[in-house]
Amino acid sequence: MQDALTFTAFSKKINEIYGNVNEERDFEYIYSYLCRNCSYLSRSILRDGNSKLFFAKSFSWLFSVAGKLEVDLGDVFRRKYPRACPYCVTAPCQCNETHRAPVNKAPAHAVRLSLINMYNTDMNSSAELGLEKAILRMGEIYPANKAIWKAFGSFYHFSRLFEELGEIHEAYSGYKKDGEKIKLEEELADVTAWLLSAWGIHHKSDSLSDCLLDYYIDNCPVCKKSPCVCTEYSDRPQMLADKASLEEVKAKIVELISLDPSLKAEIGELLSSMDQAIDTVSTVDAKQAVGSVKRALTQMEGAINKADDVTGRTNKVLASIKSILSTLESFKDYWPG
Ligand SMILES: [Zn+2]
Ligand SMILES: [Zn+2]
Repeated sequence: MQDALTFTAFSKKINEIYGNVNEERDFEYIYSYLCRNCSYLSRSILRDGNSKLFFAKSFSWLFSVAGKLEVDLGDVFRRKYPRACPYCVTAPCQCNETHRAPVNKAPAHAVRLSLINMYNTDMNSSAELGLEKAILRMGEIYPANKAIWKAFGSFYHFSRLFEELGEIHEAYSGYKKDGEKIKLEEELADVTAWLLSAWGIHHKSDSLSDCLLDYYIDNCPVCKKSPCVCTEYSDRPQMLADKASLEEVKAKIVELISLDPSLKAEIGELLSSMDQAIDTVSTVDAKQAVGSVKRALTQMEGAINKADDVTGRTNKVLASIKSILSTLESFKDYWPG
């Protein structure tokens, strides 16, 4: 596993691509996209969707929020998590036993001093922290997170992430009132920690650096430029993309029927539900149509696989069904369930 990206290197990349456009945007705009992508990330993990895409987007918006606030995310992360849990001041975290009190029962001022000392030692050992090392660090401080995830799923992990996201907004409004940034920096460090930890558990043997570098291989993935020239809310054409995907599925069903016209009686009506979905671009209609195509074709695929007389034509029909089903997979991230 390579450690290509440090916090600084990724901040720099995000700033090169999005520094200009983010300058024009306000905090709330950038923060709302961070929330949106974290929620889609949570869903993609629950539904076995393309979580790497939403990890890339969530980290990008998180670094954009930090850039907007002129916060050095790597530094605030290392300050809050200097190779120890900031509450029990040890690793692995013992908060479960100490109820978030320091293991050595040290008073608050002494705790602060030990955390600062640990931070200084960490900074002296390396000026830059790589993202992969930060992921490992989360696993070392909080091994229980992985155990909870493995036993009960990702719910607890994401409820903690969303709690921290809410706290960013509260800290931001505090910052607007009194100009004090420390609370905000701590909350940004917490969101960073939960996101890194989620990657470390869900994509244990994959490199986050590679995922992020791949995502930006052609600069901004939407306009393909660096600096990005996307206008505000330029993600709107999703509706048109949905329409195009629905049309692709419909065309494939037409092709399938032309391979074996006897199928028309069985799946002909799927075409009219596709037409309705394309017409209304309603998510409910689209989900219904996609769902019924999936059910009908999965059933048909099963029946063909059971049959003994597999002819050249049945093979073609089977390949066509498989191709439609794999197209339907791409809907999963947007219309799960
Ligand atoms: Zn702890
Ligand atoms: Zn762009």
